[in-house]
Amino acid sequence: MNHLLTMDQLSNRMIYSLLENAGRMKRGEQKTWKGRFAANLFLEPSTRTRQSFHVAERRMQMEVLEMEAEQSSLLKGESLYDSVRTLEAIGTDILVIRQSERDSLQELSECKGISIINAGDGTGEHPTQSLLDLFTIYEEFGCFKGLTVTIAGDIKHSRVARSNAYALKQLGAEVQFSSPDEWKEPGKTYVTMDEAVASSDVLMLLRIQKERHDWEGDIPDYLTDYGLTKERERRMKSHSIILHPAPVNRGVEIDSALVECQKSRIFTQMNNGVYMRMAIIDELMGGKHNENNKCVPMERELFATM
Ligand code: ASP
Repeated sequence: MNHLLTMDQLSNRMIYSLLENAGRMKRGEQKTWKGRFAANLFLEPSTRTRQSFHVAERRMQMEVLEMEAEQSSLLKGESLYDSVRTLEAIGTDILVIRQSERDSLQELSECKGISIINAGDGTGEHPTQSLLDLFTIYEEFGCFKGLTVTIAGDIKHSRVARSNAYALKQLGAEVQFSSPDEWKEPGKTYVTMDEAVASSDVLMLLRIQKERHDWEGDIPDYLTDYGLTKERERRMKSHSIILHPAPVNRGVEIDSALVECQKSRIFTQMNNGVYMRMAIIDELMGGKHNENNKCVPMERELFATM
């Protein structure tokens, strides 16, 4: 694997390998890429993903370049492609990038000396969130086949929904959706929230993506009509779990008192995110070494010219 841009590039075999690797990291296995460089470029706001990557990179003893969009040449009109080629030329191994245009990272996959990780491309995909969600589900149930997963909320604008729907189906889970009409996407099976709580093993709630809406209004009574209330939570299956990629709008997608309830794995997801991101970086870095060292260590280049 040279880049991680979308979930459809991953075979089930690769997904399971990442899940196993993340599990080993969580149990304390040390993998280090000491002295290698990772750059984090976030052109859309982020708390969890950015800091989680930073922690993952530092735990693997990498050197981390935190790039600030306002101080980069992107503001001088440099194209994203040229910025990435520059990072590649100066020896950066990994670039974690979040930006607002869907599908616009594909052209960067031509850069072979640097591995690009999509940390969210607008309404497109969020593969590392999906992988950490899969890790959390796998840790809980040990399988995907036979599970019913409901993805609920702003389906239309959610990159988390898109990546997870694809991957969960590929892994054999039964995936259904729950959403107000405004945010439904055609061609999917929808249930009401009342049906969702009764039938799901995993209830994956989504944040309302206000910043991606072309109208200002709110859906009144969202919690009561479409969200997870305390009363609905009582009707969930005893072994079922609640996921949410966060940030959570407390009292909107979920009753505030449920954010840390016994079924909630919301903070476990965040914890698992670090291990999954370590596994992803390790896979990408390993790929560089296996394919005849596409990324030549700096010292070797220097010695060669002496
Ligand atoms: N943090 C996730 C994302 O960046 C979910 C969200 O923001 O709603 O897509």
